Amino acid sequence: MALIVQKYGGTSVANLDQIRKVAERIIKVHGAGNNVVVVLSAMAGETNRLIQLAHEIADDPNTRELDVLLATGEQTTVSLLSIMLESMGYPARSLLGYQAEIVTNRAFGRARIAEIRADRVRELLGQGKIVAVAGFQGRDQKGNITTLGRGGSDTSAVALAAALKADVCEIYTDVDGVYTTDPNLCKKARKLDKIYYDEMLEMASLGAKVLQIRAVEFAKKFNVPIHVRSSFKEEEGTMVVEEKEEDMERLVVSGVAYSKDEARITLSKVPDRPGIASKIFTTIAEAGIVVDMIIQNTRKGGLTDLTFTVAKSDYPRAMAMQTDLAKSVGAEQVLGDEHIAKVSVIGVGMRSHSGVAARMFTALAKENINIMMISTSEIKISCVIEEKYTELAVRILHKVFGLDST
Ligand code: ADP
Ligand code: ASP
Ligand code: MG
Repeated sequence: MALIVQKYGGTSVANLDQIRKVAERIIKVHGAGNNVVVVLSAMAGETNRLIQLAHEIADDPNTRELDVLLATGEQTTVSLLSIMLESMGYPARSLLGYQAEIVTNRAFGRARIAEIRADRVRELLGQGKIVAVAGFQGRDQKGNITTLGRGGSDTSAVALAAALKADVCEIYTDVDGVYTTDPNLCKKARKLDKIYYDEMLEMASLGAKVLQIRAVEFAKKFNVPIHVRSSFKEEEGTMVVEEKEEDMERLVVSGVAYSKDEARITLSKVPDRPGIASKIFTTIAEAGIVVDMIIQNTRKGGLTDLTFTVAKSDYPRAMAMQTDLAKSVGAEQVLGDEHIAKVSVIGVGMRSHSGVAARMFTALAKENINIMMISTSEIKISCVIEEKYTELAVRILHKVFGLDST
């Protein structure tokens, strides 16, 4: 008898028909003698609808209240699934985040899981019940409802799987696995049979929203195997697993990711003195804004240009701060650009291959795509380009690194 955690995304529970199909799938696994814990997202579009409702009242709604509101999306689906399962003759119980004892910090809207006790989940499993846990939500130390950031149900599922020492965490979604790149953007994307935690971490953090990055972090830390698969098909999907020495046949590049979620800010002609960068980035950090890439180039005459990227959602705030900051550090000008994209190539094989960056830059140059910023790590290379070239860049890189399906 195995313990299986299954997570179904929004499109998999978009209406009662879909919920019935999900129930049938669960019953099969339960009927085969397994313990099943199901983590659900809200119905497709529901979280966006709720966010919009709140924004119709206020530009900047109270984040605590917003989390109370957003958590209702997942409350709806877990109760409907339990009612569905019971109506089909199977014992089921729904639990909200706090009832499953998912304890987080107090960062509303982007809370991090600190602890999962899950005693009630175990107790219900012991009674032979199917347990449906609301994804994306938890509670802080004081009992306030918190949410885990967009796509957070993935993290609820993996964290629960880790806490319960489940045999596998299955992530059911609208694609049948993890692909070499977003299959909705590039028709030649190929499904991978497996991908390593480290590669998946990079893919997720560089824009592939098929798994939330925190989910992969949990999986890696607690060694939870993740199986990403389709809720509409029976075939096996992609296993996200630990890297093994014996796996010799590593692709140099195993995936291409892109993100249009960042914006670029440049402070030009900044005096080149110790302490200036510290002042600028301390101010930004104190406002709770996360900076991704940073480059600095030196000009003549003791001046320098500082360019960095922030999340698009933080861009208006970051720009407003820069104008004051520019004055205080004596910078001549502040420039901003929201129409950028970051394209990245990822692969553990890069560790042992040289020339990957050169191949990437040459491929982009051949298409006349200008590179504005570059950042690299051991297993990834990212370039910031003009947003309008995103699709072209992804397709070209996918081809150049031999990932196109035949
Ligand atoms: P869910 O609602 O089930 O959580 P998401 O929309 O969050 O589903 O994630 C699935 C989507 O991730 C796919 O529809 C696909 O467009 C996107 N995606 C981006 N990159 C990849 C990739 N490399 N492999 C698979 N899907 C990807
Ligand atoms: N419903 C939440 C969202 O749309 C969480 C999730 O689907 O994972 O982001
Ligand atoms: Mg998702």
